[in-house]
Amino acid sequence: VIAILGDLFVGALKAIAPLLVFFLVMSALAHMGEGQKTNMGFIVALYMLGNLFSALVAVIACRLFPVTLTLGKAATEDVTPPSGVGEVLKNLLLNVVSNPIASIVNANYIGILAWACIFGIALKAASPATKNLLDDFSNALSTAVKWVISCAPFGIMGLIFNVISESGLKALLSYGRLILVLVGSMAFVALIMNPLIVFFCSRKNPYPLVFKCLVRSFITAFFTRSSAANIPVNMELCEEMELDENTYSVSIPLGATINMDGTAIYQGVCAIFIASCYGIHLTLPQMLTIIFTATLASIGTAGVPGAGMVMLAMVLTSVGLPVDGIALVAGVDRIFDMGRTTVNITGDASCCVIVSNLEKKREARKMAKSM
Ligand code: ASP
Repeated sequence: VIAILGDLFVGALKAIAPLLVFFLVMSALAHMGEGQKTNMGFIVALYMLGNLFSALVAVIACRLFPVTLTLGKAATEDVTPPSGVGEVLKNLLLNVVSNPIASIVNANYIGILAWACIFGIALKAASPATKNLLDDFSNALSTAVKWVISCAPFGIMGLIFNVISESGLKALLSYGRLILVLVGSMAFVALIMNPLIVFFCSRKNPYPLVFKCLVRSFITAFFTRSSAANIPVNMELCEEMELDENTYSVSIPLGATINMDGTAIYQGVCAIFIASCYGIHLTLPQMLTIIFTATLASIGTAGVPGAGMVMLAMVLTSVGLPVDGIALVAGVDRIFDMGRTTVNITGDASCCVIVSNLEKKREARKMAKSM
């Protein structure tokens, strides 16, 4: 009975998130005036830079603190990896043009965002009554999300119960050093690198904002292991911080899809760990390839549990490592996934705050000039 509370909570969040994103984005764009900015280019650049730096941090951490494991059995896992960078990019593009209804049903956020933008822009010419109807729908969905989130304490109790009963602590102990390197790199990215980026962009103490975002989404991200399920939580946070709805209704779902710092770290660290378990020495060009492919693979990773492990196969093949090596980390992936999902979602809201602040400053400067 306790475990089912967790499943119900995650199920409800996952069920409502695609509809919420679709209607919010469509309604925001339909209401947007001429010349109004969403700064999406800057936000996407911030997201990608975060992924790249995270993969770099992972590789440096593995050089400083090498991790290996004496090979026991390396069972072949049943994973179907993408064959390379080209296929990941092709899949991303195909997701953009997938059927809009299928995108909502399958929680394909790239497709949902693309179609919501197209319909939203097309609906700019619609009558005020139609636009108001859209607005009413998105408000109703936001209210429904708030109701679901208010059940969080029961849902989270169920999720914690699930984790403790399903993954024993014993399996973790043999991975002690690997876990330390992963947790250390993730903590570095979440508590030093991301705050530095916030500081450079805002020139203010970044920690109140970083902690606010972390505290707010930590528990849902950690236990749901899904960035997509966390979209409503992050949106509610942005609404509370009174950020621009036109910006956050697009940037939060986009962040849940492509801003994957934790996954980039995981893929970089695991690729080097697997190489070392097989006794393969990686050259500098191979390390750079790992940084590059981990950045791309993390961008292509869906915000659902376990997706990062499937994409790890792409990083391994890019430097000629055996895909079977995934078996070495598969047994404890559930635990790794909790950590990486938490890091994945922490930067989404803070990027939105950075952009909102920059926009406010720009407006203020414009006003000052015109006076
Ligand atoms: N579970 C992660 C997320 O939703 C993706 C991954 O498996 O790396 O962000």
